[in-house]
Amino acid sequence: MTDFARTKALFDLPDGMIYLDGNSLGPLPKAAAARVSRCVTQEWGEKLITGWNKAGWMVQPTALGDRVGRLIGAEPGHVVLGDTLSIKVYQALAAAIDLVPDRKVILTDSGNFPSDIYMAEGLIKSLGHGHELRVVAPEDVADHINDDIAVLMLTQVDYRTGRLHDMAALTKAAHAAGAVTVWDLAHAAGALAVDVQGCAADFAVGCTYKYLNAGPGAPAFIYIAPRHVDQCQPALSGWLGHEAPFAFDLDYRPGSGIERMRVGTPPVLQMAALDAALDIWDEVDMAALRRASIALTERFIAGVEAACPMLTLASPRDPQRRGSQVSFRFENGYAAMQACIARNVIGDFRAPDIMRFGFTPLFIDAEDVDAAIRVIADVMQNQLWDDPAYQTKSAVT
Ligand SMILES: *Cc1c(COP(=O)(O)O)cnc(C)c1O
Repeated sequence: MTDFARTKALFDLPDGMIYLDGNSLGPLPKAAAARVSRCVTQEWGEKLITGWNKAGWMVQPTALGDRVGRLIGAEPGHVVLGDTLSIKVYQALAAAIDLVPDRKVILTDSGNFPSDIYMAEGLIKSLGHGHELRVVAPEDVADHINDDIAVLMLTQVDYRTGRLHDMAALTKAAHAAGAVTVWDLAHAAGALAVDVQGCAADFAVGCTYKYLNAGPGAPAFIYIAPRHVDQCQPALSGWLGHEAPFAFDLDYRPGSGIERMRVGTPPVLQMAALDAALDIWDEVDMAALRRASIALTERFIAGVEAACPMLTLASPRDPQRRGSQVSFRFENGYAAMQACIARNVIGDFRAPDIMRFGFTPLFIDAEDVDAAIRVIADVMQNQLWDDPAYQTKSAVT
């Protein structure tokens, strides 16, 4: 069993703030500040270039990759960290396309995060082999899996609504049709128990700055099933994915296994933050986390619906079909969210009308949920959002 009161005490949360946005940027683990500072002063400051060997900087992408791998059910040695998620989507999709050379269709859904779609479009264009990106409604994905499809590329949890795809069933259907799968776990890793091995997923990618709490700009991860990795020719053939980077050969040879998905120099300071964040995750039982997350989201939905009839639930009502976030639609959702934020209940807004709240049992408990409901009820019932101060949009919503 995981003691969530204990994990909550491991985060540095501003007094009085109810932070329901850990699905977008996780909060600061107390140990991360000290760990990063030690990395700066004792590793970078004192070891300088010898830090690559002496402080283990060069092996961090795979060493920390294994710890992330446990959270997504990966085999040890098959997850590597680096770059941003958009880059990892590109790499995974390029490798997946290569595995099914006789087909041209990439199937995804309209709930996918735009960057995944943009990266796919860019890849298709640069390949110039006439691939087609087929975008269907999330609920229609299963009906569109047929023997045209080369790659099924989906994000498991919809960033707007929290709708959860059945990864096992869709992967099975894709395989039966002769396709391979790329799963984006951005809103799933650290939100629920993911089992890439059990689902026989082919490729998976995700980020570490959302539920995993490694800080803004923290590296992304990529998983390739062991049965495929040796056939994957990296589309981004950087030197650190080479078999022997320090041989400085002029010819590229892919590194062994998942190492080939490395590109360039790893972000060492950000890895230090991730290392501290993963110390918390090492103690978390994912089944217990999921139970706690469902209890929080159920409580939140019941409380908000009872107090705020003007809000419409945008997330699936069935908790088994939902990730760890709850979204409501409201015409003036942007202003309403600004009014909540001004009262220290932090969620976010996703166009056109989604108020989004993330639930993270590591640092959010039932008391926080009740306090958040009280604030949201006050904002909605008394139309506190109807104030010009809440209309101005910032660059990041
Ligand atoms: C958050 C998120 C991203 C962000 O990608 P970055 O390259 O890390 O900025 C991409 N895809 C999905 C599905 C996301 O949720």
